[in-house]
Amino acid sequence: MRLSQLPWTTLKETPAEAEVISHQLLLRAGLIRRLTSGIFTWLPLGLRVLRRVEQVVREEMDRAGALEVLMPAVQPAELWQETGRWDRYGDLLLRIRDRQERDYCFGPTHEEIITDLARRELRSYRQLPVNYYQIQTKFRDEIRPRFGLMRAREFIMKDAYSFHMDQASLEVTYQAMAQAYARIFTRLGLRFRTVEADSGEIGGSRSQEFHVLADSGEDAIAFCDADRFAANVEAAPALPPPGARPAPGAPLQAVATPQMRSIEEVSAFLKVPATRCLKLLLVEGSDGGIVALALRGDHVLNTVKAGRLAQVAKPLTLASPERVLALTGAPTGFIGPVGLRIAVIADHAAAALADFVAGGNREGFHQTGVNWGRDAAEPATADLRNVVAGDPSPGGGGPLAIARGIEVGHIFQLGDKYSQAMKAVVLDQDGQERVMTMGCYGIGVSRIVAAAIEQNHDEDGIVWPAPMSPFDVVLLVLNPKNSEAVTATAEAIYLELRQAGMEVLLDDRDARPGVKFAEADLLGVPHRLVLGERSLKDAAIEYRHRRSGAEEKVALGDVLEFLQQRLAGAAPG
Ligand code: ATP
Ligand code: MG
Repeated sequence: MRLSQLPWTTLKETPAEAEVISHQLLLRAGLIRRLTSGIFTWLPLGLRVLRRVEQVVREEMDRAGALEVLMPAVQPAELWQETGRWDRYGDLLLRIRDRQERDYCFGPTHEEIITDLARRELRSYRQLPVNYYQIQTKFRDEIRPRFGLMRAREFIMKDAYSFHMDQASLEVTYQAMAQAYARIFTRLGLRFRTVEADSGEIGGSRSQEFHVLADSGEDAIAFCDADRFAANVEAAPALPPPGARPAPGAPLQAVATPQMRSIEEVSAFLKVPATRCLKLLLVEGSDGGIVALALRGDHVLNTVKAGRLAQVAKPLTLASPERVLALTGAPTGFIGPVGLRIAVIADHAAAALADFVAGGNREGFHQTGVNWGRDAAEPATADLRNVVAGDPSPGGGGPLAIARGIEVGHIFQLGDKYSQAMKAVVLDQDGQERVMTMGCYGIGVSRIVAAAIEQNHDEDGIVWPAPMSPFDVVLLVLNPKNSEAVTATAEAIYLELRQAGMEVLLDDRDARPGVKFAEADLLGVPHRLVLGERSLKDAAIEYRHRRSGAEEKVALGDVLEFLQQRLAGAAPG
């Protein structure tokens, strides 16, 4: 593509509406434009990126045996009423009406449509399993559309739905999809983790999310590469610390801690690290009383885990300060286990503390040298907290690391949730009607583009992983008006590279060299060539690798071979 023929506007300033870097750079590099809240146009250069992502997704879905279809975006309300989701889906659903006053929605997802298709098209067990997919525009009326393409209202999703006679068959396709997803994100050159999204309930349907790792991610992920464990921090089990609790060594003492209610204040004042302080949280109990949850001072309560305890009222509710005072005689912030007459459930790490600091059950006082068993009753124990970096992996492979992630894919075993409600049946070997078992598999195709930028950028702009870059190579021609020889040589190289199958962006504009350099960096094409009068004198071209910044002079006759080697190189980008 010749830049001289493209109306391309980049922005020097960061647009005020863009909070995250991907949104800023997508706008600044002229890849997308906002039409209205959460709705965007893909400009020519941006669309090239989207198409490359789609291509990889399509190839891997085809390879895994899925069949491409294209379903309508507009869906009749009746189907959603059959599954009960017309009422349940809420305000995320964009509802529309036709001239005959019939209700429709703009599809946020397609379970109803595909299940309707399957019950019409599929008759016999012999036709199963089957896996349909599409790459299509979705609409979700998100409460807070933000972060550009990351949480848009209109966005592009690859969604797939599989139909089976039984769970065993679903299991096979589900694993094939998990593998296809891993191949897709690997091929795109993204660092990602496959995260167990299981509710943890026995018999619960299986589900996994695929997260691109990036500091701006909405989710925190705990993972261990040695044993391949990965889970949302909230879902990861925190194991009890190894070894026995140390024996009490220090005497129990009360210390004045006026006005100091938080662990930070107490820990700083007493010069005791938060890891040796006990935090008590008082919540409503299921029997109408209150229950104390004990955590190590540096740990954070996991409300999902705590909410599952039988002793705790549902939903998990903090006891009011008045109730705390009435039941313990001390205000919140000064509660401790010594002499406390309510049930204490301690996180495993809190139960392993010895000689610790805790509230003194008296306003303005804490206690040091507190020990379970000696000074306070042995607590019941449970896993109550979020894991932290360094905790042992539940997979046994060593310490957990924690990183932030962006959900780009989600695979799910649906079972018969939709097929039962919509009576999607086929005849089995005995001629009996059987409700089909289903799986569904989503990828946020447009979100991938944003996630890739969140993961791959620097202060000068985007640094595309090579497989997603709008071009393989950008060729800058310096001052083309000044030298016909430079222009002619650039044209020849442009032709040569394109004939060899490379996607090349030729910057043949009549623009200042400084502008060309800056805009090429902003756009983030992995390989840059620069040709000007000076380099032509040496019969050479200047090469620069966008990610590493490494520069090299390459003889004009060697350019093609040099780039072919670079492009074939193992490292993406
Ligand atoms: P989220 O938790 O981020 O709202 P979700 O779990 O509701 O997403 P799914 O129903 O699993 O989303 O949809 C499949 C994929 O579609 C997601 O993994 C995500 O990559 C993408 N996606 C979902 N909502 C949006 C959105 N508003 N904008 C862009 N992509 C989205
Ligand atoms: Mg999801």
